[in-house]
Amino acid sequence: MSPIRLALVGLGKIARDQHLPAIAATEGIELVAVASRNASLDGVAHFATLAELLASGEAIDAVALCTPPQGRHDLAALALKAGKHVLLEKPPGATVSELGPLVAAAEVSGRTLFATWHSRFAPAVEPARAFLSEVAPRAVTITWKEDVRVWHPGQRWIWEPGGLGVFDPAINALSILTAILPRAVFVTGAELSFPSNCAAPIAATVDLADAGGLKVHADLDFLQTGPQSWDIAVETDRGTLLLSHGGAKLTLDGQVLSAQPEAEYQNIYKHFVELVAEGRSDVDLAPLQLVADAFLLGRRVDVAPFHD
Ligand code: NAP
Repeated sequence: MSPIRLALVGLGKIARDQHLPAIAATEGIELVAVASRNASLDGVAHFATLAELLASGEAIDAVALCTPPQGRHDLAALALKAGKHVLLEKPPGATVSELGPLVAAAEVSGRTLFATWHSRFAPAVEPARAFLSEVAPRAVTITWKEDVRVWHPGQRWIWEPGGLGVFDPAINALSILTAILPRAVFVTGAELSFPSNCAAPIAATVDLADAGGLKVHADLDFLQTGPQSWDIAVETDRGTLLLSHGGAKLTLDGQVLSAQPEAEYQNIYKHFVELVAEGRSDVDLAPLQLVADAFLLGRRVDVAPFHD
């Protein structure tokens, strides 16, 4: 089969840091165009917008949407209508309900829609899932604390409605949680701290439970300086299972069970190539639904304004 001719939309931080090297390293897919208002790549066809790219007649089979979540629905709908396969960065959209019509459009057009959750491709996630399928979890603590100034410098969209604030990174923890636990979880309470000049929270706590009475507590912060914390600790009868470094390392009572090199985005593109070849879509909205429920149920606390 000839490689999938891919256009990347939104040449920003994650596109440059992860998508470009992952695409270059993946068989079966090649970058042929970029649609970005303020950025371009030498040797690759450039358009300011996806609409201009589609109107140009440039031969592409698929698009990877690396723009902010707000507006991603319209881009995905446009691409599917034009008969292109679509890869969505996380979160898959600014709302849960906008995804249903996209799933339907992908079915009608016979194209692949892939809502990526990059943290699910972290190397210790599958070993953690396998462990917890045999040893029941008794309690879970998520600690997801990072420095927004390091990871999202100057990004205003993250503080606007649909930008998710601290849930932009924390949804990665929820994507892992929903992949490794044996049963579905639901939100039972939340507290969201909104800077007085932002429409999205800068810190939060979220409590969740499953039908068997498992309790999950998440502590989320966007102002962590020094060492960053991307940890999920699970109490079990065999000891404390710790999935750390964003899903890269797994230990049981300090003993290393898994620590492999990170290859999240390469595995994302490998999976995309497989989905397209098999004519399938992959859309799981559970992590975004949990965030939406935290916003629905969360008690709002006003905190000091945030400045970059
Ligand atoms: P970013 O640096 O702001 O890049 C997004 C790009 O999208 C911009 O450079 C911009 O390029 C384009 N764009 C189109 N419409 C825009 C709008 N209304 N506002 C701002 N930019 C717009 O953001 P990013 O960090 O790459 O994040 C993009 C997505 O990737 C988010 O959903 C995020 O959750 C996800 N992600 C980010 C990271 C990370 O570490 N930063 C990690 C994993 C996933 P033009 O101006 O050239 O059009």
